[in-house]
This record gives sequence, structure tokens and C-alpha cells, in this order.
Amino acid sequence: MRASGLGVAGALLAMLLGATLARAEPLVIAHRGASGYLPEHTTEAQALAVGLGADFVELDLVLSRDGVPVVLHDLTLDATTDVAEHFPGRARADGRYYAIDFDRAELATLGVGERVDPKTGEAVFPGRFPLTSGGFGLPTLARTIDLVQGLEASTGRSIGLYVEIKRPGFHRDEGQDISRVVLEALAAAGYGGQGDGRLYLQGFDWAETRRIRDELGYKGPLVQLIGGNDWADAAGSDYEALLGDEGLLELAGVVDGIGVPIGLVLDRAGESPGLAERVTARGLAVHAYTLRADRLPGWAADMAELVASLEAVGVDGFFTDQPDLTRAALGR
Ligand code: CA
Repeated sequence: MRASGLGVAGALLAMLLGATLARAEPLVIAHRGASGYLPEHTTEAQALAVGLGADFVELDLVLSRDGVPVVLHDLTLDATTDVAEHFPGRARADGRYYAIDFDRAELATLGVGERVDPKTGEAVFPGRFPLTSGGFGLPTLARTIDLVQGLEASTGRSIGLYVEIKRPGFHRDEGQDISRVVLEALAAAGYGGQGDGRLYLQGFDWAETRRIRDELGYKGPLVQLIGGNDWADAAGSDYEALLGDEGLLELAGVVDGIGVPIGLVLDRAGESPGLAERVTARGLAVHAYTLRADRLPGWAADMAELVASLEAVGVDGFFTDQPDLTRAALGR
């Protein structure tokens, strides 16, 4: 009887803790910087994100040939830089230019612009920053840290980094351990301590997420991203299984939260299938991607309705291309 009583008390405590976490101030995470207004992942987009009041600047990292973490979403450079003009003949057999085939010094010469479809050259988000030949550069992780820590000093605000390690399996095949390199770089810059609230790590590869905890010893906030099982980024992760009851239990033993597409927590009619509620009941955070004022789900009239509906089911972090509009929707 006593064990059963403790079990009930434990369950109640877990529910209370879950509810407490879910009620904490939601995080405004500037997705690739303020990418709704300036080309993604540029220093300018990162600075604007801070200026617009984001709590965290989100960044994706890949490694250069000489092992330097650079801020880039794709493994390839074609969609956001003028690489073909600078380095004709350096594409692989698939016609793509891979960042890992270039040294950091070479990457530093590239111009960065608004994202295009490399096949057509058309803007992926028409109406955003105009396509240019590239007046922007490709930042390293070190440059981003300099910027953010400098702005912390000059504004007196705490500004977090929300770092995604891209495709650890691909990097391993190329002879590089991206997770170890990134964790060492972050630790050297003062990030990664337990609970200082200035760093979140995220990734799609579930085996790598566990390795980051167990083998690499990272103790700070860690988020498992949820995507499609057929995505290259999934690297064999079975997201359906992870979101089942046993999977959630396993997740709760490793990570602090999950990052999920909006469509998994609110369906095409804007109704909840119950996932966010099940996850928050386990005491895990739910961060939703990606809020875009110029690409809203059909059921949402504007950013305010989107944010309110996500908040109502327990979402407590928002990956957003327009951090100012998301903040305004939260009444901040
Ligand atoms: Ca990302």
C-alpha cells in the first residue's frame, strides 16, 4: 500500500512539475536569426534578432574542411551563397557545393544572400529581403559568440544560443566529429554548464542526442528534434516510436524537451491531437517550429492566433522567423 501511495504522490509531483514547467515564460527563439527580415544565419540577422527582443538566437552548425564550426543550415552552399561564382569546378558529382570541401578561409570569401531554390534561382520566400549578389558573409560560431556576448555586455540582457548540430553521421563519414568539436568550442566560450540558461543544444539524430549526454557528458538543456523518419537528418531515428508512451519515458530520461513541427501539435483544422499535452505531462518542454508570418497554417489568421493556440496546448518555446511579432503575440 505504501509503495502504491508513493507512486500516486510521485505521479502528482510529476504532474505539478510538468505544469510548472509548462507555465514558465515561453521562449522566443529567433530561427536562423531574424530570418524573416534579413538573409538567414548572417551576423546582421543575428543582431536584428537581439534587437527585436528574442530570448535565443537559433543557429545551425556544419564544419569546414579544416574543422571550424560555421553557421549554415544546409550541408551545401548553393542555396544561400555565391559559391559557384567563386569556386567553379569545386562541386561534387551531384552538382552541389559542400561546405566541408572548403577551408574556413575560402568560406570567408563567399557572399551570402536570401535563400533561393538552387534549381530555379527563385526566392524561397518572395517578399522577404531582396535577392542580391551577396553583401553578407558566412559567420563562424566564434563570430556569433563574439556578437552575442558583446550584445550581452552592451545591453545588460542575457541572450541565449540555441544550437543545432547538423548531420553528425555525414560529418563522421567525412572524418570529423562535429558534436565533440562544437561542444568543446562552446565550453571554451563559457557555455554548456548545467542550467545557466544561455545554451540549448538540439538535434534530429536520436542516437547522437544520447551520445551527447552519455559519452560527451553535456549537462545543459538538450532538445530532441522531431521530424520525418524518412528525412536524411533523422539518421535512423524512429520518431513515431519516440512519441509513444514508452518513447516519451525514454526521452524524459535524456532530454529536457522536444522540438516539433507545428502540424504535430495542432492539426490542419487547428485541433490538438493531444501530443503536446502528453509531452508536457512528462515534464518535458515543447518547442514548436517554425512560426512564419508569411507562411501561416491555413487555420491561423495571423501570428497572434497561431501563438495563442500553441500556448493553449502547452507549447512553451517558439522557433520564429519574426521574433518581434511572436513577442507581441505573447504580450511582451
Ligand atoms: Ca535549425
